Amino acid sequence: MRHVILGAGVAGLASVEAIRSVDKQSEIIMLGDDPHGFYSRPGLAYYITGELPDKALFPQTREDYARLNFKYHKCRVAKIYRAEKKVELDGRTYLSYDKLLIATGAKALPLTVPGAGLKGVVKLDHLEDAHQILSVAKRGKTAVVVGGGITALELTEGLLARGVKVHYLLRGDRYWSNVLDEHESRIVEGRLQEEGVTLNFHAELVEVIGKSGKVGAVRLLDGRTIKCDILAYAIGIKPRADLARDAELALDRGILVNEFLQTNDPDIYAAGDVAQVYDPISGRSVLDSLWHPAREQGYAAGLNMAGRRKSYIKGAPFNVTRLAGLTTTIIGAVGQGRDEDILGIARGDSETWRQLPDAIVAQGGFDTNHVRILVGEKTLIGAIVMGDQTLSTPLQKIIANKIDISKIHDKLLARDAKIADVIVDFWSHHLTTA
Ligand SMILES: Cc1cc2nc3c(=O)[nH]c(=O)nc-3n(C[C@H](O)[C@H](O)[C@H](O)COP(=O)(O)OP(=O)(O)OC[C@H]3O[C@@H](n4cnc5c(N)ncnc54)[C@H](O)[C@@H]3O)c2cc1C
Repeated sequence: MRHVILGAGVAGLASVEAIRSVDKQSEIIMLGDDPHGFYSRPGLAYYITGELPDKALFPQTREDYARLNFKYHKCRVAKIYRAEKKVELDGRTYLSYDKLLIATGAKALPLTVPGAGLKGVVKLDHLEDAHQILSVAKRGKTAVVVGGGITALELTEGLLARGVKVHYLLRGDRYWSNVLDEHESRIVEGRLQEEGVTLNFHAELVEVIGKSGKVGAVRLLDGRTIKCDILAYAIGIKPRADLARDAELALDRGILVNEFLQTNDPDIYAAGDVAQVYDPISGRSVLDSLWHPAREQGYAAGLNMAGRRKSYIKGAPFNVTRLAGLTTTIIGAVGQGRDEDILGIARGDSETWRQLPDAIVAQGGFDTNHVRILVGEKTLIGAIVMGDQTLSTPLQKIIANKIDISKIHDKLLARDAKIADVIVDFWSHHLTTA
């Protein structure tokens, strides 16, 4: 039996661990085209700020890999031949499979304005991009950042940490409008301004102007120009689903899979950022770009490839991240609509966050310590916790486990409710009685 794993990301690696946990004999071959193999992609943000050394991005040791007993080939997979059950590597050699996992992740959407190919235009997708950012930041004095979501701010923070002055362009009138509410956007914007970032609202980039082959300035739709030597962009990501499309697997925005992470070809599975998975919260099939779901999906896919029946039930997606230095946890469904700064989803993002069903908002705290809870009839549907993270874990558990909150429903929605106290009391009572 030969398992072929396409992609050396967290989903791919988790599938190898799962297969090996139940099957010591089968052959496992992993194929990946990133020159650095497996590393922590979320860690890249902390690498560019200087908070993490590059070594810390590689948590796995040689012994860890040896224990899993699989082969790794650094190569680009060019095509899947379903009828012959084989893949084509680098357009030359072929490798047959019995079970195939597509765990090819997602890629940053390209910037398409004139001048996007100039030296000094950067993104944060791979470790190579992070190296490039550090290299341009050494010489650069001023950067313009365009885009939205978490990555645009990670770029901003990384450049600031390297002593670069930053102009942040927003197409609309506030930051991340389809996930954060207005108050939360203003908290983040206020912190960016305190850090010295110049915010430009209603600012649409139309051209990167070159100077001797390098970025020299940007031009905006309203005719303004901003002088800069770096242009950093994070305008969204797209599942790397081309191989699946060519192989005529069922696709929507990502590769469609059933609860066993199986595509419409029973010998081909998909997991991680490339897969579009059924979401019980919204009743739709959605995309995530989140480390933990990618890992869980990869693991479940691996068990199924090895012949176990392991269904993957998507939980409430959450991310603990930093927005302009402010620790922020986003859980479940919290927003709606479209954000003009991101096309589709971004890194560290989930479509579930924007699928808000009927819910009433309860809010507490202002400025740096803020909590917003989406209260359904019997359960909490989503939450955002900014600053003090005391409520982060209880809220994750209450939302993920759909714990009945009927008893505190009215208390949470009462005028002047002390939300934090209500949740903390409820949670400690739940723990002692559970
Ligand atoms: C800068 C950044 C910040 C992030 N922040 C967060 C965060 O705060 N929280 C969070 O939960 N998540 C975050 N993420 C997202 C998280 O890293 C991803 O959800 C996760 O890595 C997805 O894992 P994956 O295995 O599906 O795909 P990937 O990690 O993308 O791995 C896919 C692999 O497949 C390879 N591949 C693709 N096509 C081919 C091909 N044709 N041939 C060979 N190899 C191929 C790629 O090179 C890659 O190695 C962040 C990601 C980035 C880049």
